[in-house]
Amino acid sequence: MTHKAYKFRIYPTEEQEILLAKTFGCVRFVYNKMLAEKKEAYERLKDNKALLKQQKFPTPAKYKEEFEWLKEVDSLALANAQLNLQEGYRNFFGGRAKYPRFKNRKSRQSYTTNMVNGNIKLVDGYLKLPKLKPMKMKQHREIPSHHTIKSCTISKTTTGKYYVSILTGCEQKTKPKELKSVVGLDFSMSGLFVDSEKGEIANYPRYYRQALEKLAKAQQILSRRKKGSNRWEKQRLKVAKLHEKVANQRNDFLHKQSHALTQQYDAIVIEDFDMKGMSKSLNFGKSVMDAAWGRFTKFLKYKLENQGKKLIKIDKWFPSSKTCSRCRLVKKALSLSERTFQCACGFVLDRDWNAAINIKMEGLRTLEE
Ligand SMILES: [Zn+2]
Repeated sequence: MTHKAYKFRIYPTEEQEILLAKTFGCVRFVYNKMLAEKKEAYERLKDNKALLKQQKFPTPAKYKEEFEWLKEVDSLALANAQLNLQEGYRNFFGGRAKYPRFKNRKSRQSYTTNMVNGNIKLVDGYLKLPKLKPMKMKQHREIPSHHTIKSCTISKTTTGKYYVSILTGCEQKTKPKELKSVVGLDFSMSGLFVDSEKGEIANYPRYYRQALEKLAKAQQILSRRKKGSNRWEKQRLKVAKLHEKVANQRNDFLHKQSHALTQQYDAIVIEDFDMKGMSKSLNFGKSVMDAAWGRFTKFLKYKLENQGKKLIKIDKWFPSSKTCSRCRLVKKALSLSERTFQCACGFVLDRDWNAAINIKMEGLRTLEE
């Protein structure tokens, strides 16, 4: 079974907005209630692992008696709040995440509901969800008929827009394609990537860079305003809108780039590195570009897999920058400031281009294994 998510903007009526707000609130309420109970038990029993494990997870049903208004909203949304929290605990005990935290009004406004007995429908530009009348939806792309809807996540942005992310599943397996054309990509500090074939930087469009600058300035102004004041609130909305614009432009760019590559090539080779670790070790701080690379590789993966093609990740310790792509000699040291790769064999090439070629060759080698 392969999964794919489709995200569309939805336009609830005022009446529907009220119920959505209630649902967001109830999900948060139930989540916090369960967390409080679990936390109390955890504090009490943390020295007795066996007893702690036996503790049953609280269910939303038990709160419905006491808090009648919980019955007004989609019960699947509440059930998913429980699953979310359980997942949070599993990740915590597995050492993959911090202890789950309480949600407040500033937390992401969203809830997830599941397809049960045809309770979710898409009809003629409308989305039908449990407890809600059909909601207008801008469906800019078709969901293939062999995809079945699994769940829907409804969310509200800080600027007041509503979206639905529809998760679908598909039984049909795509036939693996013969991998004839292969490209290597090197993550680029100044753009998105440099490819092994042309050695050109896939650079963000100028309007995107300008929007980023505008956002930074707007954030600076916000930080100088008095928190909670009218002027602060006005600026906060401005920042949120710019954030949204920048995110949309970036996604658009990442989709276009990944689409072009996955049409042209059968396999794409990248380095398997953890951007979070990398930005820490190299002191980039919180860069927007880093997050984009992770998202970009996700896009590449599903766009390739949908066509029976392949994303190849090579070992993060592979010395892609230090190796000469002509004679294979590995340099002992290469500083970040050296933008041109020069080898004792006489080979000279742009640093990132040389790395992209090495990444491609390493990918080809792992394919043959
Ligand atoms: Zn060389």
